[in-house]
Amino acid sequence: MTFEAPPHPMTDAGEMPHAPYAPYAAHPARSRGRRFAEAAPGSRSEFQRDRDRIVHSTAFRRLEYKTQVFINHEGDLFRTRLTHSIEVAQIARSCARNLRLNEDLVEAISLAHDLGHTPFGHAGQDALNGCMKEYGGFEHNLQSLRVVDALEQHYGAFDGLNLTFETREGILKHCSLTHARQLGDVGQRFIERKQPSLEAQLANLADEIAYNNHDIDDGLRSGLLGMAQMSEVDFFARHLRDVEHTYPGISGRRAIHETVRRMINALIVDLLDTSAARIAEAAPRDIEDVRNASPLIAFSRTMAAEAAVLKKFLHENLYRHFQVNRMTAKARNIVIQMFETFLGQPNLLPPDYQVHGIADDIQRQQKQARQVADYIAGMTDRYAIREHRRLFTMD
Ligand code: MG
Repeated sequence: MTFEAPPHPMTDAGEMPHAPYAPYAAHPARSRGRRFAEAAPGSRSEFQRDRDRIVHSTAFRRLEYKTQVFINHEGDLFRTRLTHSIEVAQIARSCARNLRLNEDLVEAISLAHDLGHTPFGHAGQDALNGCMKEYGGFEHNLQSLRVVDALEQHYGAFDGLNLTFETREGILKHCSLTHARQLGDVGQRFIERKQPSLEAQLANLADEIAYNNHDIDDGLRSGLLGMAQMSEVDFFARHLRDVEHTYPGISGRRAIHETVRRMINALIVDLLDTSAARIAEAAPRDIEDVRNASPLIAFSRTMAAEAAVLKKFLHENLYRHFQVNRMTAKARNIVIQMFETFLGQPNLLPPDYQVHGIADDIQRQQKQARQVADYIAGMTDRYAIREHRRLFTMD
């Protein structure tokens, strides 16, 4: 029997010692690279460098004060986009290790996936999209890519964070064909109907596992949902019964937490089993085979149906709860009023966001609208509330 010395991490750029990745995982040393060429990182892999750049970005810090479902100032214990993103990264990383995928890449994608979100959650995104209808629309997913490709201003040599193709591809979960044609390399797969890396597929489903479950937890904590009502969802009721059987007399926070953790676990186990079976069947030799196959990271049919019921329940009972609707209506007004005012009077914008030097009226208006959208999308909830007050209140 012979033993081979593991490669030294400092001498083999991008290759960690004993890299535990499967052949079909994304490999940092075989990345499609960055838009602006850079020297290989010495002491970390290309995907670690991406993750580090994301954590150090301005947009990442803003996630702390952006709504997931509940507006940031409604309570200290509710999820924000930041804690949501950390939960997504945690779920995605543990699944990645299990499937021998690249943990650093799933972590980078997970931490960056919501960077383009507007203030006030989906209410803000829908309002801004409506405002931008004549100017190409607004979509948070595309905006996340725009943040890392263009809007962050940290480096001397380029705009954005200059991330690897694999991280950017993972951030762009979905996109219309019109947008795909304008996006170049990361848009190509939507035109060719191909899949992204398994790491990107995994981060996407980890997002779903995270928000379905933490929204139940937040919904119950806020009192907008009740345990009896939640038990209309069979998936929840089954796990609650199991908890009550194991811990007779359990109630309150402990009962909720024990139930939700069992649900997360059931979803993850199902995802791992189903995905491992699909990977075994498709037998991809490398990431190119993954791109050409059907989606390989997936829930079983039964679990996908349970998750769909849960999602529907949350839509009907939490996201459209009258108290959430009231907040949504206020958020909508704030976004629309700011957009209309800024676009009508660009001289009210901070100078960096004002467009000058374009003679053609239509082109200037187009560019100005995008600048206004970037400005509003970058706001945290509380910044948007304050900025709205500064614009419309004399105090
Ligand atoms: Mg998300």
